Amino acid sequence: MRMSKLYMPTLREAPSEAEIPSHQLLVRGGMIRKLVSGIYSYLPLGYRVIRKIENIVREEMDNAGSQELLMSAIQPKELWEASGRWGNYGPEMFKLKDRHMREFCLGPTHEEYFTFVIRDEIKSYKQLPLNLYQIQTKYRDEKRPRFGLIRAREFIMKDAYSFDRDIEGMKKSYKQMWEAYDKIFTRLKIKYKVVEGDSGAMGGNQSHEFMAMSEVGESLVAYCNNCDYAATDEKAKVVYHVEKTDEEMKEIEKVYTPDVTTIDDLVEFFNIDDNKFGKALVYKVSGEPVIAIIPGNRELNETKLCNYLKVPEHELELADEETIKKITGADKGFTGPIGLKENVKILVDSRITQMKNIVVGGNETNYHLINVNYGRDFTGEVVEDLLLIAEGDICPKCGKSILLDRGIEVGNIFQLGTKYSESLKATYLDESGKEKPIVMGSYGVGVSRTMAAIVEQYHDENGIIWPLVVAPYHVIITIINVKNQEQRELGEKLYDQLTKRGLEVLLDDRNERAGVKFNDRDLIGIPIRITVGKRANENVVEYSLRKDGRNENILAEDVMSKIE
Ligand code: ATP
Ligand code: MG
Ligand code: MG
Ligand code: MG
Repeated sequence: MRMSKLYMPTLREAPSEAEIPSHQLLVRGGMIRKLVSGIYSYLPLGYRVIRKIENIVREEMDNAGSQELLMSAIQPKELWEASGRWGNYGPEMFKLKDRHMREFCLGPTHEEYFTFVIRDEIKSYKQLPLNLYQIQTKYRDEKRPRFGLIRAREFIMKDAYSFDRDIEGMKKSYKQMWEAYDKIFTRLKIKYKVVEGDSGAMGGNQSHEFMAMSEVGESLVAYCNNCDYAATDEKAKVVYHVEKTDEEMKEIEKVYTPDVTTIDDLVEFFNIDDNKFGKALVYKVSGEPVIAIIPGNRELNETKLCNYLKVPEHELELADEETIKKITGADKGFTGPIGLKENVKILVDSRITQMKNIVVGGNETNYHLINVNYGRDFTGEVVEDLLLIAEGDICPKCGKSILLDRGIEVGNIFQLGTKYSESLKATYLDESGKEKPIVMGSYGVGVSRTMAAIVEQYHDENGIIWPLVVAPYHVIITIINVKNQEQRELGEKLYDQLTKRGLEVLLDDRNERAGVKFNDRDLIGIPIRITVGKRANENVVEYSLRKDGRNENILAEDVMSKIE
């Protein structure tokens, strides 16, 4: 490709909303352009990268025995009503109506649709297992689209679905997909961790997330360096030791606490450890108040709370002051679950039940209660674990200390079980002629998000450093001065030779200053570089790699052997 003809609108400055390197560099490098918030076009260079990622995904899915097909992005409301997700999926779903006022959505995912597609065709155990996939555009009206391709409202996903006779079969399919994902992300040169995930809106049991490690990642990964334990912070099981004291139980006391607003103030005021405080959080869940009580020095995990209550996360909100006043009757400060004026659902993290003589109270200059004990002074539904994991927690597998790092979720695999086959009536007849629901799994790769994750892991201050396998072109030949005939002829000759040998080559034949060409070359991150300059008359060119930039003078005829 001649760069004099290439549509590659590079920019000197990134748009001000681009907060992270991948967003800045993909826009500046002329690879993507925004249409509206969270919706992007892939320009020629960027689209080549997308296609390369897609092809690696495709090859490994095909190798694993999955078959590619393509479905519509538009899905009728009825399918989603059957699974119960039309109302449950929440405001992320783009909904639309046709001219007859029939309702549809732009598919955020395709579990229902795939189940529908196979249900009338699969009748016998002989047709199972089956694994199908597509690479297609998904739509999610994200609350906060940001970070360019990482959290978009329209994005490219590879989604696959497995159909098995029984749980054992599903587990086998799951393992095959896991192995295919390992191959995909290894070939893509992504540094990643596989972590236990939360099944959330998909339903079902086990799930694993493939996390590209990056400081800009929106997910926290809890892992252990001593063993192979790794989980998302939402899933990670918190093991937390509370020292039990032999102190005698005292009556509850009310204590006036001047100028006490934070946990640190409280620690100082009461002169006790910060794990002696209980924290009460008041939520509204589908409009109803719920109080969650957890150790004061920890954070509540809202996903776990929603899973426990079996409600989607968008139905959970922190209660406003008015609600708090109404249920507690407190005009000044809130003393947790003690002395409630109304019957309110109270969920108690199990660790609270082991703590003796805790301090409870509002985060305000007000009064607190001391010597509060679960069982005697308040009760509630005890929940095994409501906490977010924190660094230093104990690894549930080996007992050593947990570490936390950030990751970008690039893939997610789920054991769905029979949630969709039961609700959408996808059954088969087993060997004894008995009707059974098909057992399913689903498997997603964020293709466009992966492109951004690669840039996060491979860039420097001058631009992108594409790994060869996904680079839009393998080689860039820069002609320093296109008005010089010797330089031009040698550049053209090399361009022909390399192209004929099957390499993907860019020829910078633009009538631009060398500085402009070098900057663009760094920015768009082509891995192998050949510079044709002053020494063209001696048949000598410069050879360098984007990743280290070291220049070497070589003879033009040695270029091919150098590349190989
Ligand atoms: P997240 O936790 O980031 O919101 P998700 O868990 O909702 O993602 P899945 O439903 O598991 O996403 O979809 C499969 C894959 O699709 C994800 O692993 C991710 O790589 C990609 N993906 C999901 N949402 C987006 C988005 N808004 N923009 C780009 N890619 C996305
Ligand atoms: Mg999401
Ligand atoms: Mg997720
Ligand atoms: Mg996910």
